[in-house]
Amino acid sequence: MSPEFPVRVSQALGNDRVRRNIRRTMDGLVLKRHKAFPDEHELAVLRRRGKLIRGHALAHLPDLLEELERNCQRNGIQVHWAETAAEGNALVRDILRRHGADRVIKGKSMVSEEMGLNHYLEAQGIRAVETDLGEFILQLGDERPSHIIAPAIHKDRVEIAQRFAAHFPEYPYTEDIEGLTAIARRIMREHFGQAIAGLSGVNFAVAETGTLCLVENEGNGRLCTTAPQVHIAVCGIEKVIARLDQLPPLLTLLTRSATGQPITTYVNMISGPRREGELDGPREVHLVLLDNGRSRIHGDPQLSSTLRCIRCGACMNHCPVYSRLGGHAYGTVYPGPIGSVLEPQLQGLDRLGELADASSLCGACGEVCPVRIPLPALLRRLRAEGVRGRKGSQVVGRGSRRKPLHRLIWTLWRWVNASPTLYRGLTGLGTRLRWLVPKHLGPWTRTRSAPAIAPRSLHELARLEGFQGE
Ligand code: SF4
Repeated sequence: MSPEFPVRVSQALGNDRVRRNIRRTMDGLVLKRHKAFPDEHELAVLRRRGKLIRGHALAHLPDLLEELERNCQRNGIQVHWAETAAEGNALVRDILRRHGADRVIKGKSMVSEEMGLNHYLEAQGIRAVETDLGEFILQLGDERPSHIIAPAIHKDRVEIAQRFAAHFPEYPYTEDIEGLTAIARRIMREHFGQAIAGLSGVNFAVAETGTLCLVENEGNGRLCTTAPQVHIAVCGIEKVIARLDQLPPLLTLLTRSATGQPITTYVNMISGPRREGELDGPREVHLVLLDNGRSRIHGDPQLSSTLRCIRCGACMNHCPVYSRLGGHAYGTVYPGPIGSVLEPQLQGLDRLGELADASSLCGACGEVCPVRIPLPALLRRLRAEGVRGRKGSQVVGRGSRRKPLHRLIWTLWRWVNASPTLYRGLTGLGTRLRWLVPKHLGPWTRTRSAPAIAPRSLHELARLEGFQGE
């Protein structure tokens, strides 16, 4: 286990304010989702459809991506392929440089977080301005999102007011939510009016029509994709779906699972740059399709179900571990159950294998996932791969968590249990020397009592009860 992880966990557990903020919002989101699906049968049907649509897309991924590229190009969208995050960043930089853009306005995009795009662009002299309110608040403090749909979930009103006061002293101090939003809106409007380029994520990319679908609640995504001259969309390759008529069930599942809304405020369908005679819209639209390890995940019949994710965040909202720790404790871009499954696969079990252990395996995540990703089974698979990679596995860092001491202990355990003489001898000795067993057994007894050895072994008790050779 990396030494930083337990430190982050105890910091998170010791921060009452963050825990209170997260707990409050989580409880609200859980309740809203529950109310959004009043009909169990309808939910079951929708989930089955969601799973089938996403499963079909993954089963035909290479063909659908080619179809998407063809249809996007036919619509005038310029398609770029990035195998790694570094390639994706360089592609975005080159597009911006070609247009002389020293600033890009950004809608919410987890893929750009995955790429580390903001820091990369800053290092290249290009300012990335977050326009989603939550992301905007975090950017002021150079913080990472704590949740995939509600990035500033760990912050309360007073903290946000203080942050605004420190960064925008020209505005009067206020803790009023409307007032804070008005300040942010005024600052962003200036950016919307002046930026040459805008960047967004993509919720679903429709192969059949070459359409990029983007859902959001604040309208900033629509402004980022239409106000500037250039729009760059960054999209993981798994976001493709086959047909336009598959969108409605996915959108229903996404918004209801995420925030409990029957429909999101803005559904943007981007099908190309401004056409002849049109008064607005970007003159260029670019689509950057990012692999960054997804092809490898796709190649594994079981783990590829990870890629069905529609990033609704429901698994986090219902996770007892996430709702007590918050997203920052995970130390990754994607937190919670989906993060614990996806991140070790993207970055390797040797680097992030401990995330798969940070689960109670209660099964809540699998129960709520709208596209029925078997998250607990995937966590168990990664735990097993961490200590003993399976034959033909492509998981990076498999077997890296196998320790020589563990191997020795389990080999001895096997020998003892396979030999009746050894077993009886050692259990007899163990019961007699039980007072020698230490009270503290490393991290295991930090939160538990050490197991006590019984004064008599089961065999002795059985003999005393008169059982002979049974
Ligand atoms: S794993 Fe399922 S519940 Fe979690 S974010 Fe993805 S789609 Fe939503």
